[in-house]
Amino acid sequence: MKKVSILIPCYNEEQSLPLLYRELSVAVNAIPRYGWEILFVNDGSCDGTLDVIKSLRKQDARICYVDLSRNFGKENAMLAGFDYVTGDCTVVMDADLQHPPHLIPQMLQYWEEGFDDVYAKRLYRSKESWLRKRLSLLYYRMLSKMTKIDILRDVGDFRLLDRCCIETLKRLRETERYSKGLFCWMGYRKKEIVFEPGDRVAGRSTWNFKSLLQLSLEGLTSYTTAPLRISTFTGIIVSLSAFVYGFYVFVKALLYGDPVQGYPNTMIVMLFLGGVQLLSIGILGEYLARIFHETKRRPPYIAREYNDEKITWMKKPDEIA
Ligand code: UDP
Ligand code: MG
Repeated sequence: MKKVSILIPCYNEEQSLPLLYRELSVAVNAIPRYGWEILFVNDGSCDGTLDVIKSLRKQDARICYVDLSRNFGKENAMLAGFDYVTGDCTVVMDADLQHPPHLIPQMLQYWEEGFDDVYAKRLYRSKESWLRKRLSLLYYRMLSKMTKIDILRDVGDFRLLDRCCIETLKRLRETERYSKGLFCWMGYRKKEIVFEPGDRVAGRSTWNFKSLLQLSLEGLTSYTTAPLRISTFTGIIVSLSAFVYGFYVFVKALLYGDPVQGYPNTMIVMLFLGGVQLLSIGILGEYLARIFHETKRRPPYIAREYNDEKITWMKKPDEIA
């Protein structure tokens, strides 16, 4: 019997989890021809999420969990999940029921047909402001222009991944993760299905404008060095024009003299060049920061407990019985 894992990163989801479990178990029980594993990754929640998971585990032996030592963010929580899932394929979904479990049978069907990565595309972005929609559209356009890989719009982390994808993702252990990009980068046979996302059932979304901005920057700088090139090109163009203009000023001064005039254009040139330089340094800094984080070689997450068993530092998931 093939085994299907469901991977759910959770951060402060004590209210959503019972509802999620109810819907999930209905969906899962309807397909008895697979073995099931429901793996919750508790991403350092500060509410009773872990207790809820533990009590669910007492009712249902298919439930497993990994408890992280603190909040490492959804990206790293997902990686922890990839390390610990045991199924032949894995469905990644959010805990807040925005990813409807009734899509799982359809995903499995495509998986049986030989697709390795069945991803769900949002039909519309629910309850998002006009500005956020516009900005995200603009961002994806820019991202796909700059990177060589097509990063799909409106496709989140709700997807079914074959074992081969999981093994690949486990080996991509970059600290500044941007899974959306990794899924597209790794390739494999992909299949799209569409769904209408619901609203969060309980709790609050932890994403705010700042964290979205951070994730967007991560997406850009971990997938393309195009911004570096932009600053190089701007640098070349600006210095060339500065040189031409300088030559013109020099010749003019030689021919006609220049008694203290020219203060305004000196200022303009100075400010402009200063701006371009700061921008370029900023871009360099972004990449430098990525290199800095990567060279520290810290693990992307620390697991504290797996299914009631304490985990010692850096014990590999496969070493656990
Ligand atoms: N999540 C997590 N760690 C975090 C933030 C979020 O594991 O630091 C989980 C959260 O519990 C949920 C999923 O990631 O299952 C998506 O989070 P959320 O609903 O806040 O994001 P949104 O749906 O607004 O993109
Ligand atoms: Mg959500």
